[in-house]
Amino acid sequence: MNGQTEKVIIVRYCEIHLKGKNRGYFEQVFMNNLERSLAGIRHEIRRPSGRYVVENFDAGMTDEIVARLSKVFGVHTLSVGTKVPSDMDAIFEEILRISPNGGTFKIVTNRADKHFPLDSMQVNAEIGGRLLAKKPDLRVDVHEPETILHIDIRENGTALVFEGIVKGAGGMPVGTAGKGMLLLSGGIDSPVAGYMIAKRGMKLECLHFHSYPYTNMQAREKVEELARILAGYTGGLNLHVVSVTHIQEEIHKKCPEEMMITLLRRFMMRIAERLCKETGAQCIVTGESLGQVASQTIEGMTSSNAVIEGVPVLRPLVGFDKTEIIERARAIGTYETSVLPYEDCCTVFLPKHPLIRPDLKKVENAESALDVEALVNEALASAEKVNF
Ligand code: ATP
Ligand code: MG
Repeated sequence: MNGQTEKVIIVRYCEIHLKGKNRGYFEQVFMNNLERSLAGIRHEIRRPSGRYVVENFDAGMTDEIVARLSKVFGVHTLSVGTKVPSDMDAIFEEILRISPNGGTFKIVTNRADKHFPLDSMQVNAEIGGRLLAKKPDLRVDVHEPETILHIDIRENGTALVFEGIVKGAGGMPVGTAGKGMLLLSGGIDSPVAGYMIAKRGMKLECLHFHSYPYTNMQAREKVEELARILAGYTGGLNLHVVSVTHIQEEIHKKCPEEMMITLLRRFMMRIAERLCKETGAQCIVTGESLGQVASQTIEGMTSSNAVIEGVPVLRPLVGFDKTEIIERARAIGTYETSVLPYEDCCTVFLPKHPLIRPDLKKVENAESALDVEALVNEALASAEKVNF
């Protein structure tokens, strides 16, 4: 039936309906994000009641479109279906085509067009009956069917017929929950932290610190690759790259060796807060997890929180085990890149025995040997910005 049947993708969203008065805004942001994810692919997105339908694309692009849409936060589930004229023969023909030859099934009809001559129960019974007559090895099971065949009769004289549901990324549309400054190292944790916070609807800016020439260009490329992967989920982001070489040299020269990481963290936070102000980001996001390494104790976090005034620090992985983080990193596609063996700035001048429970007074005292403000300004002056 050329010109009359065509592939469609049905997108169902999650949680957005919870937003009451803001619903219109959430749906608009979501629609923009869906559109952005399909940039470069011919398509149209329509919104008949309570879901989104992607139409008018080349059937050969179906898998690519599904892959892109299933990364958009806010997408609960997707189904690939076929649009047919809404008459019982056309609907049945498609049901016959997509149904299995054996096993159990049920038909689920949704009738938006209240003028359609049969109600949804009658459609189920009629189509189900015809199917049983054609495929005698099929059986109806309305409670736990192996296959659910969906018929969605729309108001514009067409019906959508589909089977099977693909799970989407879940969460909330990016852009509905403000903007955060993610401290992005080349490690396993921070990309996952960024993913999780973006999944709650937050836009991201990323900030990476390097100690070139102590760290090399491959370390930088690795972080750019991680930012590119994250951008695939957030619909684009900026990566800020800042040198902390001189800061580390100064700490190394003038402060107790075991305080390197503690003091460096405080500089990272100060620089992050300044960049928050410049970019409109409303919080700092890190990949820290309580107790994972010596510097990630509550005392360590207290010491780094103490230097920032205006923004909160979100640590979405604080209660995660390393194995859980790795699992997540694999699932979102950052793991392979994260485990590439290039040095991070934190491993430069690494103390043999880092402070586990830094005492804030002693830290501040050690830090008074440094011209903090000048070092922060100098680091910020080195900032480069890359867009993904
Ligand atoms: P990750 O796997 O994210 O590197 P980690 O377990 O190696 O984490 P740390 O090295 O202690 O932990 O870093 C803790 C957090 O500090 C990181 O998750 C990240 O948010 C931030 N961070 C560390 N190094 C850098 C860096 N070079 N640039 C930007 N942020 C960093
Ligand atoms: Mg690290």
